[in-house]
Amino acid sequence: MHFPVTTLGPGQRLGIWFQGCSIRCPGCVSVDTWASIPPKTTVELLLGQARDALAIADGVTVSGGEPFDQPDALEQLLIGIRTRSPADILVFSGYSLERLAPQLLRLDGLIDCLVADPFDGRAPQSRLLRGSDNQRLAMLTPLGHQRFAAFDRALDPSDRVLDVVFDDETGQVFLVGIPRPGDMRKLASILSETSLVAVTTEAKVPTA
Ligand code: SF4
Repeated sequence: MHFPVTTLGPGQRLGIWFQGCSIRCPGCVSVDTWASIPPKTTVELLLGQARDALAIADGVTVSGGEPFDQPDALEQLLIGIRTRSPADILVFSGYSLERLAPQLLRLDGLIDCLVADPFDGRAPQSRLLRGSDNQRLAMLTPLGHQRFAAFDRALDPSDRVLDVVFDDETGQVFLVGIPRPGDMRKLASILSETSLVAVTTEAKVPTA
């Protein structure tokens, strides 16, 4: 969890990342989020830790890993956010809209905007909020339309930004946002010429 995130939706946002993803898209830049590990927290604890951020956040972005791989926790989390904050809620999923249809019925009104479909490392990347152009941005509520209609457009150069987050406890620096293809390898290569080390977890895209 991190606040503020400014690169995954409008305004200053609380970012929450689920651990574990069973979809495993070739080219995924977050392979470190694939493994399912024993739970380290509960939704109640998380909501408690998020209280201050939720009081001032413009929105909440839920990503992963794959949030829908933990459907009960996702539902509890979304209800908890909705009842504590007027922030909009954006969720990223690697499942298709069609596959998510039954869950979206159950979660009706809890997700304002959804970015759906698996990342395709061979597809172009020219749309805002999407890692690859096959992914769809679905505005599911009036608030979703109000906040995200402006995000359903092509990228322009000023959109090419990442948040740089410093973790005081571990001394690590991590990047938040949607990198361009090859950005992570470029960063690792630049840092390899210094005393710093970039750890990237990018899955290979098989050649056709
Ligand atoms: S891109 Fe998203 S859905 Fe695809 S493997 Fe990576 S974390 Fe999972």
